[in-house]
Amino acid sequence: MSATDSCCDHLPGLLSIEQAIEQLLAQATAVAEPEPVELAAAAGRVLAQDLASPLDVPGFDNSAMDGYALHSRDLEAARNAGLPVTQRITAGSVGERLQPGCAARIFTGAPLPEGADTVVMQEHCRAADERVWIETTATAGANIRPRGNDIAAGDTVLERGTLLQAAHLGLAASVGIGTVEVSRRLRVGVFSTGDELVEPGKPLAPGHIYNSNRYQLNALLMAQGCEVLDLGSIADDFNSTREALLQAAAQADLVMTTGGVSVGEEDHVKAALQTVGELTLWRIRMKPGKPLAFGRIGDTPFIGLPGNPVSVFVTFLLIARPYLQALQGRTDARPRRYPVRAGFDYRASQRREYVRVRLHDGADGMPVAETFSRQGSDVLSSVAWANGLAEIPEDATVQAGDTVSFLPFAEWTR
Ligand code: AMP
Ligand code: MG
Repeated sequence: MSATDSCCDHLPGLLSIEQAIEQLLAQATAVAEPEPVELAAAAGRVLAQDLASPLDVPGFDNSAMDGYALHSRDLEAARNAGLPVTQRITAGSVGERLQPGCAARIFTGAPLPEGADTVVMQEHCRAADERVWIETTATAGANIRPRGNDIAAGDTVLERGTLLQAAHLGLAASVGIGTVEVSRRLRVGVFSTGDELVEPGKPLAPGHIYNSNRYQLNALLMAQGCEVLDLGSIADDFNSTREALLQAAAQADLVMTTGGVSVGEEDHVKAALQTVGELTLWRIRMKPGKPLAFGRIGDTPFIGLPGNPVSVFVTFLLIARPYLQALQGRTDARPRRYPVRAGFDYRASQRREYVRVRLHDGADGMPVAETFSRQGSDVLSSVAWANGLAEIPEDATVQAGDTVSFLPFAEWTR
């Protein structure tokens, strides 16, 4: 594109990505119907309640080290004459009150005995004949994990809307919660459109292609914690499309399709949807992925992704995903953009461009993004090769060495 093409017309009638997301979110109602699940099965689910701790964690003052517990007023004596070791306290056991002038052998996690206020790590001690000597300077009050250090009883430990991942499950377990209320999984009815589509594993007839969107979209949805109701692929025909829309909507919280949302004669989604609900066809100022349909079938929301496989991937992550999260009641932050160095020259069109890139280590420590050689919206190898997208603003010219925004795929998969 020449400089004169890009300077004047800013594609009126096209929505920005932010406008599209905002409009979707304005119409998003989170699925209610929380259900209890055992903690062991709660990974990847969305918490439907605030969780408060019923107890202090740790529940008692305990030792952070394997060593010797004593009172700080006996530190000096322990360095000179040593102290008698009068008890041995392991994790899970409870010792007795420590008498003045005595020490207790103690292990990590064991409760500090009454009468002690300091633990000296065993590496700093010498023990012989049931006595212990401290060989270095020790600090009064050291190596103790006080009761409530992590969590105080009554604290909210996890908020409603949290996608439960490893640390959250560990935290809930640490306060003794064995069952949590989570949102019901979002049910998404899915089908691909296109007379040309053949399922992988079957022979390919002339002029046909394998259906890749189905496998890609299902996996993207499952990675978002959705339950997929897969209706397969539907012919480019008004009645079949209409039937599939109704069938999907009857069972699902949301219907998503790929293809058939352009304005060609063989694009039937638009017409079919208009007879069973309502359609808004958006053209979004992004590349890949300009055409995107949004609407409803009866009361069931509908998103029609483009047909080109790379466009499916990019519009799903950038536009459909925030909406899915809202329907799931998720409150996570939007994905971050990270500054990286461009390892390429690029001239963007009047649309914001999402270039498939892979990061490698730059000489100065800043990551450098390399582009895949072919960036067409049909080139699915570019997505499989990449580990993220470089976001190039409308009309921008990027030169190797410039800073660009990088959106890592890893942050998006959940
Ligand atoms: P459409 O929007 O239906 O015109 O599709 C645009 C392009 O994407 C065409 O080249 C289609 O063949 C291709 N396409 C549509 N659906 C799929 C699919 N499920 N798998 C692979 N390619 C597809
Ligand atoms: Mg088509």
